[in-house]
This record gives sequence, C-alpha cells and structure tokens, in this order.
Amino acid sequence: MSGFRRPVESGVPDPFPFMHPMLKQNYGQWAWHDRPQVGVLRHVAQNGSAVWTAKAGTQRQMDVFTIRKLCDIGDQYADGHVRFTARSNIEFIVSDERKVTPLIEKLEAEGFPVGGTGNSVSMVSHTQGWLHCDIPGTDASGVVKALMDELYHEFKHEEMPNRVKITTSCCQINCGGQGDIAINVQHTKPPKIDHDLVANVCERPAVVARCPVAAIRPALVNGKPSLEVDEKKCVC
Ligand code: SF4
Ligand code: SF4
Repeated sequence: MSGFRRPVESGVPDPFPFMHPMLKQNYGQWAWHDRPQVGVLRHVAQNGSAVWTAKAGTQRQMDVFTIRKLCDIGDQYADGHVRFTARSNIEFIVSDERKVTPLIEKLEAEGFPVGGTGNSVSMVSHTQGWLHCDIPGTDASGVVKALMDELYHEFKHEEMPNRVKITTSCCQINCGGQGDIAINVQHTKPPKIDHDLVANVCERPAVVARCPVAAIRPALVNGKPSLEVDEKKCVC
C-alpha cells in the first residue's frame, strides 16, 4: 500500500497519488469495458492495455482489524491499490488477469462476498446512525447487516430486471442518499423512559430540543429529574 498521508479535512483529496498506475496512465483514454463475470469489471484502454476490478461487499462501518485485513489482501492478492465505492463496496484493481481468481477466492474465504455489479442488488448505502449523528433513535448498521444477509444471493447474482440500489435512513433528512428502494428505519411507538437512568446518562435539554413536535418535556419523577412524553403529540 502507499505511504501515510496527512488527513484532508475539507474538499476532495487528490486521487492521483493513490491511484493504480494503469488507471493513472490511461486516465481519459478508456475504449470500452465489460463484466467477464459477476463482481468483476474489465476496462480496456485505447492502447489495448486492460485492468480487472473485483468488487466485494463490506459491512461499511469497519474496525481497524478488518481494514488491515482488506489492505493485506490488496497487497498479497492484488496490486496494492483499492478504492471504496459510494455504497461501501471495496474494489481491488489488478493488471494481470491471472490474479483475478485467486483474489476472489481469498475475498470469499475471508467473508467478503464478490458481486454487486450489473443487474444485482448492490450494497445498501446507509446513514451514519449512532456513529456520528445525534438525532437517530435507530442505528443503520445492524439493520443493513440483517438486510444484506437476506439479499446475499441477489448481491452475488445479476438476476434482477435492472440494477437495484437500496438505501436506509433513520429520519426524513434521509442522509442515506437516493435509491430505487428507500427504507426509513424508525420506531413506530412513542419512546419509553427509564426514569432511574435518565438523570445519570441523559442530556435532558438536548433530548427535549430534538423532538420536532415538543412531545418531550422535562419532569420530576420520584424526586429525580427525568423526562415525560406526551403520547398524544408524538407523531410516531
Ligand atoms: S438519516 Fe437523519 S437521523 Fe439518520 S444519520 Fe441522517 S440526519 Fe441523522
Ligand atoms: S415525535 Fe418526539 S417523542 Fe415522538 S418519537 Fe419523535 S422525537 Fe420522540
């Protein structure tokens, strides 16, 4: 893999220093591309040189050990260059066709399904959920994991009538993005409050401010500061 770089805090980082040399060399010079098999793209340049890209699904929110494992696969079975797609698929680029099959076998053996191309169901793109956002009552990653377990076959086969993109969001701001099927992961009943815990773990003014219809109010319960929900106002 390429050396470390300082984080870029705003704007789009320059992609060229980390791009596969063949992609750099043929930038803007591609003649055609196809899909020799599910999960694999072949791009052929005007000068006749070709690269193969194997696409694998990830769980999107990854621990450092998983990222290291994917990078090691990139070093040992590909050419040391990867890229993540907008839907959190990881793509390994190789300039030698003979590397494609061993790369796919290694990815599958490590639990990363290869697919997501053409008329398949690609990875579900989802919101940040609890990782970054302070609004959501649900977390996207667990729901998306359960969904993709159900859609495993559809990810690995191109059997749909067209490409299928699914998104999930946990509020109507919909930062999961756009898709053919958009799933809003929300509770359908007003929240229940554990009055013993609220005073210790909850930033009450922030919770009160979050409710769009002012259904949550500060309250004293058994002499302790807590919250109450006006269930008639709650829009769930
Ligand atoms: S969809 Fe809404 S609640 Fe979920 S992460 Fe985005 S802004 Fe936050
Ligand atoms: S309407 Fe208010 S109380 Fe009901 S779920 Fe939404 S934020 Fe919570």
